[in-house]
Amino acid sequence: MNSPDFTTAVSASPGKPWEEEWDTVIIGGGPGGVSAGIYAMRTQLKGLLIEKSYIGGQVSLTNAIENFPGFLRVEGMDLAQRFDQHLKLFNLPVWNKTVSALHPQESGGYLVEVSTGEKVPTRTIIIASGGSPIRLPAENEEKFYGHGVSYCAICDGHFFRERPVCVVGGGGSAVQEAEYLSTICSRVTIIHRREGFRAQPAALSRLREKPNVDFKLNYVVSEVLGDDTVTGVILKHVQTGEKEELAVAAVFVYLGRQPNTDFARGVVEMDEEGLILVDRRMRTSLGCTPACGHGSA
Ligand SMILES: Cc1cc2nc3c(=O)[nH]c(=O)nc-3n(C[C@H](O)[C@H](O)[C@H](O)COP(=O)(O)OP(=O)(O)OC[C@H]3O[C@@H](n4cnc5c(N)ncnc54)[C@H](O)[C@@H]3O)c2cc1C
Repeated sequence: MNSPDFTTAVSASPGKPWEEEWDTVIIGGGPGGVSAGIYAMRTQLKGLLIEKSYIGGQVSLTNAIENFPGFLRVEGMDLAQRFDQHLKLFNLPVWNKTVSALHPQESGGYLVEVSTGEKVPTRTIIIASGGSPIRLPAENEEKFYGHGVSYCAICDGHFFRERPVCVVGGGGSAVQEAEYLSTICSRVTIIHRREGFRAQPAALSRLREKPNVDFKLNYVVSEVLGDDTVTGVILKHVQTGEKEELAVAAVFVYLGRQPNTDFARGVVEMDEEGLILVDRRMRTSLGCTPACGHGSA
């Protein structure tokens, strides 16, 4: 069997999607939405995927992935490009818009509204809108956002080549991205509010062996310092409240994700964090309209 040509596939045009009736509209082009899109096209549904930025979702923000079967290690950007090519091969139209509201219709279908006002009629919706980073709760975070406070090491790390940086967080993403930063920055300090890490032990051991990585445990960042760009952070000990200054050129934040589900509020049942509640078959309170991925619980 010939393998498909991943290099020459082109996007199916969404045309004027509000003038058509779709079998399913998939919201989000991360791994969840892309998987849903592939299945929709394989079952010959008339599907449309709406993505507000780019195909790949959080995968594109990841340095490397080591737990995707079939790939010992794959760069996030490479995997995201493969997702994009896969959708093209299956002729799934992708519309580059932000979904702003869902309107259930008495007839049983829905109108999916986007932020520019168009409303797309569809029989079903698949919600795969994932999550966004939880912002660092520190003074001046907003002032330095994009000027040394970053939520994406793979996007911004190279601006701080050979300079000291810190990583805030204790989960898998924090440890993984700190390892990447340790290969380009002069020194990486991990700031974590506890002793224990949620990251995988193997990844943590690898990080501990790096000669240019330090750990500040039981600390939080209370303030970001700088003029035009970041020059340091104030660390606060969580038990004693004692403060100390750490000189860094950038702060990379990995404190977890919050669900991108505001557009479905009041329409679909959610928990207090905004995660869409699903049953064992991933069905939401709207019945056949499923949700998947980082935005569902
Ligand atoms: C730094 C980092 C490292 C990671 N490393 C790993 C790893 O090594 N292994 C692993 O298994 N997982 C890893 N993850 C987690 C993994 O990336 C996520 O679990 C996965 O991407 C979730 O997929 P998703 O499809 O649910 O959502 P997402 O990837 O969040 O995709 C959701 C998509 O929906 C779009 N969207 C959101 N709202 C709207 C809207 N209103 N309208 C239109 N589009 C919208 C977004 O733009 C986004 O493209 C990592 C995550 C990060 C941030």
